[in-house]
Amino acid sequence: MEDKFHEFYKKPPEERLKILKEFAGLTEEEAETLRNTGALGIETADRMIENVVGTSELPFGLGLHFLVNGKEYVIPMCIEEPSVVAAASFAAKLAKSSGGFKTSSNDPVMIGQIQIMGFGDFDSARRAILDNKEKILSNANKRDSVLVSFGGGAKDIEVRKIESKIGEMLVVHLLVDVRDAMGANAINTMCEGISPLLEELTGGYVRLKIISNLADKRLARAKAIWKREELEKSTKGLVKGEEVADAILEAYYLALNDPYRCATHNKGVMNGVDAVVIATGNDFRAVEAGAHAYASISGKYKPLTKYYKNDEGDLVGEIELPVAIGTVGGATRTKPEAKVALKILGVKSAKELSEIIAAVGLAQNFAALRALATEGIQKGHMRLHSKNIAVIAGAKGNEIDKVAKKIIEDKNISVDNAKKILEEIRK
Ligand code: NAD
Repeated sequence: MEDKFHEFYKKPPEERLKILKEFAGLTEEEAETLRNTGALGIETADRMIENVVGTSELPFGLGLHFLVNGKEYVIPMCIEEPSVVAAASFAAKLAKSSGGFKTSSNDPVMIGQIQIMGFGDFDSARRAILDNKEKILSNANKRDSVLVSFGGGAKDIEVRKIESKIGEMLVVHLLVDVRDAMGANAINTMCEGISPLLEELTGGYVRLKIISNLADKRLARAKAIWKREELEKSTKGLVKGEEVADAILEAYYLALNDPYRCATHNKGVMNGVDAVVIATGNDFRAVEAGAHAYASISGKYKPLTKYYKNDEGDLVGEIELPVAIGTVGGATRTKPEAKVALKILGVKSAKELSEIIAAVGLAQNFAALRALATEGIQKGHMRLHSKNIAVIAGAKGNEIDKVAKKIIEDKNISVDNAKKILEEIRK
């Protein structure tokens, strides 16, 4: 059988699209959907990944009302899910009267792992590495003079013993301050560079040499207080502030003690986090992996946020998570929208951006808990979702709003109902 995709990667995008069109039976309109590449453009897209035939877009929205360390930020958020941008903005607005978000973060130190096998005695191998620490660090730093010129670079080394079914392993952690980069490429290059020296020192051989996504040295934190009055106002005075706080605490304590709820709790956090990570052209898989690994670091999967009441009965929320992102490197400067996003944010460093991301994660999580605990998230969610349902039912142009409005009035937000209404409208 002829391989239609033979040397697909060598062909130009338009030719690849032709092959795909034939293979998948795409109409010209469907092919055009892929061809319509927006701000990225086909040439840039084709340089970024392999086998490119087009691009896929996401809405670019703005998180508003964010007061972080006394400064107002307008926060670009890219996400396909309705309600997220509105919820984060709402939470940020409610936190404003108590001064908004206070944030902090560690230095941007990432970990590179080098796995050494066949080294003989662990303690002698460990000693040989630690005795030559300065030599190893300067060897690593030779690999990235640009990073070093910005005050970053390899700063320290840790040696760990890992027991396994196939024997003992020695794992070197190279701690690198990556300044404004996410750091994976920089660290991988350093880890590769120092591997021959580590083999020489230990008499073993190196297997893996790669960054760890459990970036627990690069934590970002945010804290906010939601005053009782604001909590009450948020329910249009229907529920007392303290009751809202208690309802949120009940929801939080379920997450703290049940991984089934905790996964969804942390998903809410990541709704906000990922939207900013994506808008700024960063690697959301890296941030996701780091967040969930960090949530499990105690051996039990825990919420990334915590909540408690202060002496005034106000609700205090806090978040701490690894945020491995950059304002240089990766796709942050190749994706045109990412460059614009960074300009809108006006951040001066990756550290500042990581703290804003933490604040958005906290805001998002608070908003979800508040909605779930007080009015039922489904109602608000489905209202925004009604427009999507109308589109699925085939509504076009101003039909979309008409159908969406009617299915809400009917209290029947379903594709079947939307189709019925659409037929009536078109009669
Ligand atoms: P990069 O190599 O594109 O850029 C980093 C480099 O930029 C630094 O090494 C430095 O030389 C230079 N630089 C210029 N100004 C700087 C400043 N102010 N601060 C710091 N560095 C500065 O990218 P990267 O950040 O090393 O790697 C990120 C990319 O690696 C992402 O695209 C990610 O998807 C990818 N990646 C991730 C993993 C993983 O997470 N496991 C693995 C491999 C690759």
